[in-house]
Amino acid sequence: MHEFALIKEFFEKQNLHRPEVILGIGDDAAIISPPANKELVITTDSLVAEVHFFLNDSPYDIGYKSLAVNLSDLAAMGATPAWVTLALTLPEANERWLKDFCNGFFVLANQFNTQLIGGDLTKGPLSITVTAIGHIPKNAALRRDKAEIGDFIFVTNTLGDAGYALRFQNSLEKLKRPEPQVLIGEKLPGIANAAIDISDGLVGDLKHILEKSHVGATIFVDDIPLSKTLTDSLPKEKAIELALTAGDDYELCFTVPEKQLENLKKALENFSYQCIGKITEKSGLALQYKNGETYVLKNQSYQHF
Ligand code: ADP
Ligand code: MG
Repeated sequence: MHEFALIKEFFEKQNLHRPEVILGIGDDAAIISPPANKELVITTDSLVAEVHFFLNDSPYDIGYKSLAVNLSDLAAMGATPAWVTLALTLPEANERWLKDFCNGFFVLANQFNTQLIGGDLTKGPLSITVTAIGHIPKNAALRRDKAEIGDFIFVTNTLGDAGYALRFQNSLEKLKRPEPQVLIGEKLPGIANAAIDISDGLVGDLKHILEKSHVGATIFVDDIPLSKTLTDSLPKEKAIELALTAGDDYELCFTVPEKQLENLKKALENFSYQCIGKITEKSGLALQYKNGETYVLKNQSYQHF
């Protein structure tokens, strides 16, 4: 199939049309009429074969994850996803592969009312670059540089599951199809001071907040939420280590001042989240057990370079 036929057959097939999209796929560029009184929030992430996924991974999962990691970044800003572009480099135009890829991509896009408005298709080693655009009321975005001393630190759901899946090739859903925490992120503006999504591991990602906000933190490792799979399969120490250092969970970590704790409780009454520590004046990240004992971390977060 020819390039333009492929675009028509696979990428123009999303059954979703947002009203602000004046012009979607098919011209030299897309046109959006930005919503009034909103700011746009824009993020890009690339997924490269053998780095972020394996060549024999299911194309459905690759399509799903390439969008999920971008929606997770929007969630971490507190934004509502709306539009997305997709630049795809493929070794060959395998139609079966493209169909499954698009199914995975569009399942998630439709779930979050996000319209594919353009992209690119080229030949080469498999790689996928997605740009996701969301919106948020003016001045409401959750940034890494706004944590304050005394804030309580929270994480969503459970940590370490993707790391467990990768290392033990078991319970792979969380690794292959991470759920971007958009619904929680959208509730946090006005309540949380700072937020980040946990893509490289809690320790590494929380440190970004600490550095940008010029503060420190204490984490009580016994309070980190762990799934039953993790606690049933691993010794406690190992489970905590994965939760602290393994990446790919795509949960949110956010900080909330004491005066907003009641509002947080109301806003997130239908969601799972847990307080794991506090922002401190003393710089650096202190890891300890509730009995006061220090937790010694052996491995650090994943780093590409
Ligand atoms: P140009 O050469 O002007 O950049 P292209 O031939 O690359 O345009 O693309 C034609 C149209 O198809 C453009 O609107 C582009 O945004 C869209 N498009 C190309 N590849 C994709 C893709 N993978 N997903 C969505 N839209 C795509
Ligand atoms: Mg052009």
